[in-house]
Amino acid sequence: MGIDAHVASFVAEIEAGLAARFAKIDEIAAVNQLKILSAMQDARLGDSHFNDSTGYGYHDEGREVLEKIFAKIFRAEAALVRPQLISGTHALAAALFGNLRPGDTLFSPVGKPYDTLESVIGIRDAAGSLAEFGVKYRQSDLLGDGGFDYEKIRAALADEPKMATIQRSKGYSWRKSFTPSEIRELILFIRQNSPRTIILVDNCYGEFVASDEPVEADLLAGSLIKNPGGGIAPGGGYVVGKAEYVEAAATRLTAPGLGSAVGPTLGMTRTLLQGLFLAPQVVSAALKGAVLAAAVFSKMGFDVNPGVFDARSDIVQAIKLGRPEAVLAFCRGVQAAAPVDSYVTPIAAPMPGYSHGVVMAGGTFVQGSSIELSADAPMREPYIVYFQGGLTAAHSRAGVVFAADEVFKLRT
Ligand SMILES: *Cc1c(COP(=O)(O)O)cnc(C)c1O
Repeated sequence: MGIDAHVASFVAEIEAGLAARFAKIDEIAAVNQLKILSAMQDARLGDSHFNDSTGYGYHDEGREVLEKIFAKIFRAEAALVRPQLISGTHALAAALFGNLRPGDTLFSPVGKPYDTLESVIGIRDAAGSLAEFGVKYRQSDLLGDGGFDYEKIRAALADEPKMATIQRSKGYSWRKSFTPSEIRELILFIRQNSPRTIILVDNCYGEFVASDEPVEADLLAGSLIKNPGGGIAPGGGYVVGKAEYVEAAATRLTAPGLGSAVGPTLGMTRTLLQGLFLAPQVVSAALKGAVLAAAVFSKMGFDVNPGVFDARSDIVQAIKLGRPEAVLAFCRGVQAAAPVDSYVTPIAAPMPGYSHGVVMAGGTFVQGSSIELSADAPMREPYIVYFQGGLTAAHSRAGVVFAADEVFKLRT
């Protein structure tokens, strides 16, 4: 396919040294596979649940079982898993708007949240933001080493903010992604200092990367075109947690008085469940690609985050490429490795919800799906590319090879 033979063997040699690392990833996938299998069995999932519902979607038993399964996996009282949730941002917005009221405060103890949440919260001016509805926002930045600044967090909790939001994944930043046990520690600290604060975890990109989830949170939210959709879900999002808070999110999604009782599945129930069932395997494929990318690009002299042997809590591999041409070359490689739209050249463009131009590579079966092989980068200093996904380990590997080939070409 036009790949330089030297690049191919360079990657193959590096990959040969990663067998033990990959075996660990497979172990976690096995645990998560059983977790999902057992949730499906406990919910007595049956063939009849794949029936379709339309219109209001009253008494949709398939939807009820799907939500029971999600609740079980996240050890939650309730779950809202809906095709009507467009994305992770939408699921998070429903959880926030559903539970916050004018005069309340939202607090982030982990610094600035993901770019699209800036307009939801109103950190960046946006019509309809929480700020416009009189919800205040505060954040406590992370320490220089990426840890939680407990002194500042304690001070911010003194007036008991209504909600706290914790982002598990690094997003478009160079920090570490927090593991479920690190998040647990932070949640316990918040509870000690402000027991009534509702704690939401943005779990995007984190699902099934570890053998546990940050289930101590009051609410968790994420996207079905990332990890938990297994690359099969054609769309959707989820919110899980305490029944009262999940219902408040449902009420925001539908309407007061309707809540979670309505919502047609429009024929998607089977694919959402099948995607969930495959998710541990797909996440493990993506993780192998991420680890390989870390190994290859660090060998090429770039800073990578996380490192090859670091603990991982999301599927995202950040690579500091340092200049815009290298970011574009990397993205060209990933695009050229895609099954769909492989012939197009990714360039930076404005995107709804983002303040900078963003370049996005991803020739995906589901539009914008980033559990499928993809790479994206906000076009700003220090020119970091975020690489993730791959439905099979071989495809994720191909993404690394094609991207490395393009970046090597730039050097010669
Ligand atoms: C992807 C992502 C989101 C939500 O983005 P959508 O594109 O709306 O699904 C939120 N937070 C983090 C950390 C993410 O990675």
